[in-house]
Amino acid sequence: MKLNRLFIDRELVARAEANRIAQRLGIPTQEVNSAGEVFETVMAASDPVAAGKRMLYLTANRGAFVRDCPGTSHYTCCGYRILHVGAYCSMDCAYCILQAYFHPPVLTFFINTEDFVAQIEKEFNKDKIQRFGTGEFTDSLIWEGLSSVNEELVRLFSGQDRCVLELKTKTTAVERLLSLPHRRRTILAWSLSSREMVSRCERGTAAIEARLAAAARAAAQGYPVAFHFDPIVIEDRSLPGYLETIERIFAAVEPANIVWISLGALRFMPALKAVIENRFPGLPLACGEFITGLDGKLRYFKPLRIRAYRRMAQAIRRRAPEVCLYLCMEDDEVWREALGFVPAERGGLVAMLDEAAVRVCGLKR
Ligand code: SF4
Repeated sequence: MKLNRLFIDRELVARAEANRIAQRLGIPTQEVNSAGEVFETVMAASDPVAAGKRMLYLTANRGAFVRDCPGTSHYTCCGYRILHVGAYCSMDCAYCILQAYFHPPVLTFFINTEDFVAQIEKEFNKDKIQRFGTGEFTDSLIWEGLSSVNEELVRLFSGQDRCVLELKTKTTAVERLLSLPHRRRTILAWSLSSREMVSRCERGTAAIEARLAAAARAAAQGYPVAFHFDPIVIEDRSLPGYLETIERIFAAVEPANIVWISLGALRFMPALKAVIENRFPGLPLACGEFITGLDGKLRYFKPLRIRAYRRMAQAIRRRAPEVCLYLCMEDDEVWREALGFVPAERGGLVAMLDEAAVRVCGLKR
């Protein structure tokens, strides 16, 4: 993180966690009465989306820490549960949906940890398999240098048998987690792309080779791992780069230790198009031919998506026929054409992923 300003809610300044973070950062710090004061500062910048990545706001999550993934209407959803520990990201990917999701986007971290521990423990008492993750509204591991939230989560999840935690990242910040007693209840997951897309579209993220080296280290310490190709950019000659990354995965980790691999083609709300064009001029990312999906998001034409998924799925299955491979936010026709089956034939996507978590992470039903 390259932060230049810290904001702390006035009512939280006396908290030990706020002091620890402020000391670690050693940057100008301002107490605020409300989020509005932070937003005003961010909006005054010439590029608020970039400014929000360099300022950190420490506040309390006064709502739910545990939420259902909003998914998207009309497409098959994975039934993921979000642990809302923080928001936004210090890295800068052109296709990042968070640029248009928050108004304005500001790097935010919640320090009322006791509330979130209580909410998660309540979930552990439910008599069912559940999959949780912190990587929906932020990158899970950008907080590693600042807070022990991940350490705390890994320990919490290690003490029960029905829930699994997925920490999803584009960083290599696994060092502190490696020696923790995780009991395979935490999955370390990486968002992947092609090397070309990383250099063109992902400012500040780790190289593909570095992400996979971190995955190999995690796997060597007994962590289950997972990979997400999302978003897949479909352009002339873009596919070989993704296929190369697939080969690199299997050179780095054993298929039996991979919980799941997901594929999702680039899709976005219309509002993100203008953000990409303004912030990444010259990048033809949003200029392709898109159709508006049933959920209002812009997507590639179906035949293009099917062809890309099919080629990538073939490459994955050649190396790992048993791995749980799934599509993110697609309909049955795409599943059938690309993967040869629809989720309902295997009990639904939720059941498929629960089964993978049982098989690879050792959860108990
Ligand atoms: S790493 Fe993920 S969360 Fe961070 S900017 Fe890139 S896409 Fe967004």
